[in-house]
Amino acid sequence: MEWWVSMPKLELHAHLNGSIRNSTILELGRELGEKGIIVFSDVEHVILKSDRSLPEVFKLFDLIHVLTTDHETVTRITKEVVEDFAAENVVYLELRTTPKRNDSKGMSKRSYMEAVLEGLRAVSTVEVDIFRDSEVECHANAHTLYDTKNGTQRKKIYVRLLLSIDRRETTEAAMETVKLALEMRHLGVVGIDLSGNPVIGEWQTFLPVLEFAKEQGLSITLHCGEVPNPKEIHAMLDFLPARIGHACCLGEEEWRKLKSSKIPVEICLTSNIKTETISSVDVHHFADLYNSKHPIVLCTDDTGVFSTSSSREYILASSAFGIHKREMFQLARNAIDFIFADDGVKRELEVMFDLAAGRLEF
Ligand code: 5GP
Repeated sequence: MEWWVSMPKLELHAHLNGSIRNSTILELGRELGEKGIIVFSDVEHVILKSDRSLPEVFKLFDLIHVLTTDHETVTRITKEVVEDFAAENVVYLELRTTPKRNDSKGMSKRSYMEAVLEGLRAVSTVEVDIFRDSEVECHANAHTLYDTKNGTQRKKIYVRLLLSIDRRETTEAAMETVKLALEMRHLGVVGIDLSGNPVIGEWQTFLPVLEFAKEQGLSITLHCGEVPNPKEIHAMLDFLPARIGHACCLGEEEWRKLKSSKIPVEICLTSNIKTETISSVDVHHFADLYNSKHPIVLCTDDTGVFSTSSSREYILASSAFGIHKREMFQLARNAIDFIFADDGVKRELEVMFDLAAGRLEF
């Protein structure tokens, strides 16, 4: 385990509210129970259950969203989630979250995101790189970060944000999210994600909004093929997103289209197996994509909901598919090409990986 933790990793598919510590969810649940807002004993087993089907996962998210409705809690969970990823030696994190409006708490989509940013600023265990204005500054930063003489490196995590559109939303609400993302670009927002219950909502609802986002230069990632829906999967691949998540239920034709498109796939092994989207790890499409050198990145999806971590996902892939440490390190490094941050950040990450390659025993 220690080796896998010490290996630098990139996390490109992590939902904020799915990555909350179990201990924090239980604490928040107890507090709301004491205030009489929920009956804690009714929800405790829902929180503690370890294997959930996909519909049960979305029920749990509805509960989590009841527990995390105020600004202070959003700030707290953001801080904790970033600290947890940094402790796992994730050096670049693209954290995604659905901006939420909650009138009873005086929360708008913007103030929700401000609470997230406050959480990034509150991180104390590691230096957080949220955004830099120019590549010049970026290279200057690289020099202060690395002590090249002895190859040591101050602990640091790059965090960029993706704003998620929930498939329950209307076109107007989705457009509000995209406009917010554009306004918050100087604060580290780099892209848009389409997620939420895959059996709800129509692709056509979101297409004009996503096209607008793309035209404006935001990078797009889509949850694609979590359930069999050939028409939608074809339409999503035709849209040419910068990445897709999951790609579990693709038929032969969609599979061919994906392979020829070279669209990078965010793979979430534990999530797919626990939700039974894929029946077992040995039949997971990771193997086919990996063997055919299709661009892929290993991700966690929801570390809290699925009780996993970045290191565990790497260990699982290595043991299930017989891939050695050096190749797993290369797999992690390859993901630098698929991040939504600028080239300056990519170069700094390459330096980080090169330093780590000299330090790690393979
Ligand atoms: P949030 O956006 O509230 O920070 O994170 C939780 C939300 O992410 C969920 O309500 C859901 O919309 C989305 N999400 C998390 N995990 C999954 C997943 O495995 N599949 C899909 N489609 N959406 C997910």
